[in-house]
Amino acid sequence: MNPQDKTQRHATVIGAGIVGVCCALYLQRDGHEVTLMDYQGPGEACSMGNAGQISPGTCTPHAMPGIVFQVPGMLLDPLGPLAIRWRYLPRLAPWLLRLAFATTKRRVEAISIALRELHRSVCSDYEELTEGTGAEKIFRRAGRMELYESERSFAAAGPSRELMQRRGVEVEILAAERIRELQPGLGFPYRYGTLRHDSMHVTDPRRLVQALAADFERRGGTLLTERVVDFEMNASGPARITTEAGSHPVDVVVVAAGAYSRKLVRALGTRVPLDTERGYHIALPNPGVEVRLPIMSADHHFALTPMENELRLAGTDEFAGIEAPPNYARADRLLQAARRMFPDLNAEGASRWMGCRPSMPDSLPVICRSPRYPSVFFAFGHGHFGLSGAPMTGRLIADMLAGRSTPIDAGPYRVDRFWP
Ligand SMILES: Cc1cc2nc3c(=O)[nH]c(=O)nc-3n(C[C@H](O)[C@H](O)[C@H](O)COP(=O)(O)OP(=O)(O)OC[C@H]3O[C@@H](n4cnc5c(N)ncnc54)[C@H](O)[C@@H]3O)c2cc1C
Repeated sequence: MNPQDKTQRHATVIGAGIVGVCCALYLQRDGHEVTLMDYQGPGEACSMGNAGQISPGTCTPHAMPGIVFQVPGMLLDPLGPLAIRWRYLPRLAPWLLRLAFATTKRRVEAISIALRELHRSVCSDYEELTEGTGAEKIFRRAGRMELYESERSFAAAGPSRELMQRRGVEVEILAAERIRELQPGLGFPYRYGTLRHDSMHVTDPRRLVQALAADFERRGGTLLTERVVDFEMNASGPARITTEAGSHPVDVVVVAAGAYSRKLVRALGTRVPLDTERGYHIALPNPGVEVRLPIMSADHHFALTPMENELRLAGTDEFAGIEAPPNYARADRLLQAARRMFPDLNAEGASRWMGCRPSMPDSLPVICRSPRYPSVFFAFGHGHFGLSGAPMTGRLIADMLAGRSTPIDAGPYRVDRFWP
């Protein structure tokens, strides 16, 4: 783009997780001058420790119809897949109420369409984004197997499979023999399973973000290691960004600070029901088993992903806010559950991690122009699926700034969907 071109802007993207980095890259491709700000290195927050799974077919919200009745049972087990720190409940209650409203059949149908559209082109988008960055090497196209310990748990997931079918996602139903063929050495006699051929995974999610951020810098982007604390506003929006290190003039601002976005959005005059579902992983450097493809345990709600130098067990939902210290017993619980699958798992040298998923009550992210200020954009709230939703988020933000029509209907991701 010609520097004299009036459409060229200076965009400041706050947050260098997978979402912020994708936004920065697509804005840069449009010829904008882009600054990416993060107080940590790229990919050091939630985008670092996830299960690495990327799937164009992801279209089931985290709260399906009937979840409200299952929650009390899940909460009774202190190390079960779901936990709430009770002191946090009063702050969480409005979010939970919104989640309950999002579980009607009509809403779930609409949410699943919006999730599917957001994720549909993720594989080709990453192919294009990572070309020549070195990150191409960390992608694996092994599919994703989901295992069920009983006919009952397999039947309970029936509505999710039907939803996927309605969205055109191919799900292979696996017989016991095929399960053992795909993954030899399973300790539990699984008779029920499914395989999603469309899924791929990355063997190091942090390296993916770092490689993309390095590419962004190579193409002339600026990466600043600063924490944004406030904005100096004028009538048309933010004129300067205040960081712990000083202040910078701004033109366009994109808030992509993951679970930490709520405060920043509030400072920009918009309220958003963003909370966090904290997740954990335990990484086993010498697991003693060869896991051939990513596996989900439907009964214990966690994922096993073969990573570059470890087997990663990731999952659990903990509601405790951003500030509370981690409870690593929840990571250890993942190991107990995984030993039902692989009894001889070796945990020597294991490391534990906790990350804050940026979660919206309806499982849909916020991707839009601010309703208050035309120079401000929001790109956060990807919850369980940020790795899959990041590329399309970046494309949408770039299209919105350019005033182009978007490749998918962006209406479902508007921040004002919660407003009366
Ligand atoms: C256990 C677990 C497993 C998961 N598995 C998967 C999976 O398999 N597939 C998938 O698609 N998703 C998965 N996810 C979800 C995925 O990791 C997230 O949705 C995604 O990482 C969110 O990315 P983000 O860029 O929005 O946030 P983050 O990665 O958290 O990035 C936000 C960035 O903003 C920065 N920041 C915050 N505040 C400020 C500030 N004031 N100033 C400057 N910078 C700031 C932070 O330092 C951080 O780097 C998983 C999550 C967890 C916890």
